[in-house]
Amino acid sequence: MRLHYGVWDGVVYDNRGTADYKEPEGLDLKNLLQFNNGNPVMTFISHRGFLVFHPHANLLFAMNKYYSTVKDNSCGKCTPCRSGSIIISQALEKALRGDPINWENLLDIARMMRNTSFCGVGQTSPVALIEAIKAFPGDLKLVPLPDMPWGGYEVMTAPCIEACPAHVNVPRYIDYIKAGRTDYATGVVLRHYPLVGSCGRVCVRLCEKACRRNRLEGAVDIKNLKRYCADSLGYTVDKMFEGAAAEPSEFSPRIAIIGAGPSGLTCAYHLLLKGYKVEVFEAQRKAGGMALVGIPQYRLPKDILLAEANTIEQLGGKFHYGRRLGKDFTLDDLFNEGFNAVFIGVGCAKGMKLGFPEDNEQIEGYYNGLDFLLQVERGVVEGEAPSFSGDFVVVGGGNVAMDCSRSAVRMTDGKVHVIYRRTEAQAPADPLEIKAAKEEGIEFHFLTAQKELVLENGKVTGLRCIKLREGAPEANGRRKLIEIPGTEFVIPCSNVISAIGQRIDQSIFEQKDNILFDKRGNISVTESLATSRPGVFAGGDCATGPTTLIGGMAQGQTAAESIHEYLTRGSVGFEPRSRMTQMIKKCNLLEETEPVLPTIHQDRQQMPELAPEIRAHNFEEVELGLTPEEAKKEAERCMRCYRLFGVVTQLPIPGFNQKAQ
Ligand code: SF4
Ligand code: SF4
Repeated sequence: MRLHYGVWDGVVYDNRGTADYKEPEGLDLKNLLQFNNGNPVMTFISHRGFLVFHPHANLLFAMNKYYSTVKDNSCGKCTPCRSGSIIISQALEKALRGDPINWENLLDIARMMRNTSFCGVGQTSPVALIEAIKAFPGDLKLVPLPDMPWGGYEVMTAPCIEACPAHVNVPRYIDYIKAGRTDYATGVVLRHYPLVGSCGRVCVRLCEKACRRNRLEGAVDIKNLKRYCADSLGYTVDKMFEGAAAEPSEFSPRIAIIGAGPSGLTCAYHLLLKGYKVEVFEAQRKAGGMALVGIPQYRLPKDILLAEANTIEQLGGKFHYGRRLGKDFTLDDLFNEGFNAVFIGVGCAKGMKLGFPEDNEQIEGYYNGLDFLLQVERGVVEGEAPSFSGDFVVVGGGNVAMDCSRSAVRMTDGKVHVIYRRTEAQAPADPLEIKAAKEEGIEFHFLTAQKELVLENGKVTGLRCIKLREGAPEANGRRKLIEIPGTEFVIPCSNVISAIGQRIDQSIFEQKDNILFDKRGNISVTESLATSRPGVFAGGDCATGPTTLIGGMAQGQTAAESIHEYLTRGSVGFEPRSRMTQMIKKCNLLEETEPVLPTIHQDRQQMPELAPEIRAHNFEEVELGLTPEEAKKEAERCMRCYRLFGVVTQLPIPGFNQKAQ
């Protein structure tokens, strides 16, 4: 038997004393039964109900723990939740001591809280208690024995928070925008990473895809609200850390960070905040990694990125520029110099070419996307003008292809084409980027593949292409692509850019580094981002393959925690927040089928932009930023869809000191 009893989505289950076992349909309970190794989940509570898995579980204990967290998370803006959560928590405390309480009265209060509260906290958290009082009043009155060794963990989250790889508390920073406190709002994001204004410009908006407002008029403009927080400070975030560098202690462990990209900077940031001595080794002349080289100036002004990276120096970290792993130093050198741990965030610095016979030759006009963007960056930001002319063909359908094509259109008077093997809907690029590229005059050829370079005297003069059609689905779920005979054609051009992917440059490692790679060629890491060499951690593109700015920063955040654990406990342990995320994701616990409660219709604010005919000829920032009025209006659209998830486990949770008492 797995489920003893409970109520889920309004359906009551009681498998005690019956052979007719039942459990919620479509809920894969095996994902909820263990929290960490050897530590069974006794109860699970959420906005959808409660589940009791263990014969010795105590429902009253679990409810008390859950509603104590509800009370702590009630913001106090509306009375039903503020007062209701306090009354419920105090009543359950009393019941736990064995004192009599009025359960009917408590049921009325929980219902009133659910029906009249402003936001997800008050509207959804009473559900479990209401169901328990109605269906299992006897179990709710059983008082547990004192001093049980149980553990427990709760997470207050929302669809946008779960979708964000760094789990930024989106509704909280939006609340601060509503209140006119963009400094506090920025502070919410700074709990996770220092590149606030940069991420607010270029994030891929996974949170917006998950936003519940999509089920009304469209997602809340979460990304641009974050940019608004940083921009409205009137100074860059590094200034917030002036004078904040910790006094170095000779006993503080030293950490080497290899690579000053988003993951390395974020890892350095968290370690500095914890009091470590941190030095960052960067092969290029500046910090920023792929965000510096790979994201063009018209999307991310480099002065903002560099200022935000300067937070590391404000906190007492040191940069060593022009220092390349494998050429200027090795991992052994770092440990011999006295570093206690190393984080590798070297990215995927090798752009892939198109698989043509000329790939390894120097052909004028044939580049990989990364090299092209590096030349553009140096040209635009440092004045080393690259000479590009004529028409371009960019091959690829991802964000790098969009960055290459939109940069190319700004570098030439010629025509710019993008060819992509699959359909527009299947292109991995942000749809807004494709739209912007089209507005700037870039011509797209979907379901089109490259066949060969057309060359004259060693120079590119065109790209031979062929049209494709979709066939039957293959094992990976994607449709087979079939060339259509007789559809070959040449796009005349002077430049062909391959933007089909990047990979890690493995040649920077030696065998004695003892760094292993996975079958995709990335650095092999555990969930805690530990590599095969003790004391060496890796994250970002070099461990996952090309990822996003936010993906890299989230890994830097995780790696910093792991390094801290490694240096303080000698091993890397269990991360309860990640486990909770896994449970929520595997069981689709945030997917709701019932309609979103009626709210006032409010359309998404439109980000003001430079007109396509102006912006297509320069590298000025295209998006101009929301005004305070627009930001406030947009912030008002957030419905604070908080949901609380809580477990009680048979034993305390390792690495997490809070016991369920
Ligand atoms: S958390 Fe939500 S429901 Fe609770 S007091 Fe604040 S606004 Fe009201
Ligand atoms: S409405 Fe607000 S809290 Fe709800 S998912 Fe969207 S951003 Fe998050």
